[in-house]
Amino acid sequence: MTDMNQIVGSHDIVMITLDTLRYDVAKLEEENCPNLCESGPWEKRHTPGSFTYAAHHAFFGGFLPTPANTDKASHIRLFHTKDTGLRTHPHTWLFDAPDIVSGLAGEGYRTICIGGVIFFTKKNKLAKVLPGYFQESYWRMTFGVTNPRSTEHQVNHTLKLLEKADPAQRLFLFLNVSAIHGPNHYFLGGSAKDSVESQRAALRYVDGQLGRLFDALRERGKTFCLAFSDHGTAYGEDGYEGHRLAHEVVWNVPYREFVL
Ligand SMILES: [Zn+2]
Repeated sequence: MTDMNQIVGSHDIVMITLDTLRYDVAKLEEENCPNLCESGPWEKRHTPGSFTYAAHHAFFGGFLPTPANTDKASHIRLFHTKDTGLRTHPHTWLFDAPDIVSGLAGEGYRTICIGGVIFFTKKNKLAKVLPGYFQESYWRMTFGVTNPRSTEHQVNHTLKLLEKADPAQRLFLFLNVSAIHGPNHYFLGGSAKDSVESQRAALRYVDGQLGRLFDALRERGKTFCLAFSDHGTAYGEDGYEGHRLAHEVVWNVPYREFVL
């Protein structure tokens, strides 16, 4: 596993949540995602939450999606809060804070949130909670689920921040990609309804946009990148639609970690 104690302090850390991306969809598109899957395939994991708000609180608390296997010994965490009395792996980074975002800020990281779906819009008090974990947070109408070029806008905004960023200060950059969340039918020309096929098209679009972001991060130095989904979604399986429910198409999520 990655030794997080070699990463924290020396690498920029980027967390990308591909909101609502199903594990099966990610696997089907591996060959068409040269940016996300350049260094390997998706890993199947279980999400700690069935919808955005729950899942992201867990992530920021250091609980990333869990490997989808019964070998508990392989479930080594990258992040763990300090002073729990529990024995932790030597490669786990222990944070002395209520969450990894302020924990990383305490290590000198500049923490930035690029919002996507409704829980990051800052339009009401609830939608300020998740962005509120960060020193800086950004959301524009063009970053949201209704804009068919949302990822392009999110990446453009991030690139502007990176251009002006102090090269000596490490970054914790969080990006919530909204494009794969519904509605995504417009990524499939002529389709009026979201489906596995339209989610596949949305993922191809997202991967195509992430290349510019990864290039810019490589120019800054070493980046540890976490890319995963917060939950999947149902398109009629067993009668279910959407998420915030327990079904394997919701709790199975794709996960990757890699160094750029
Ligand atoms: Zn979500």
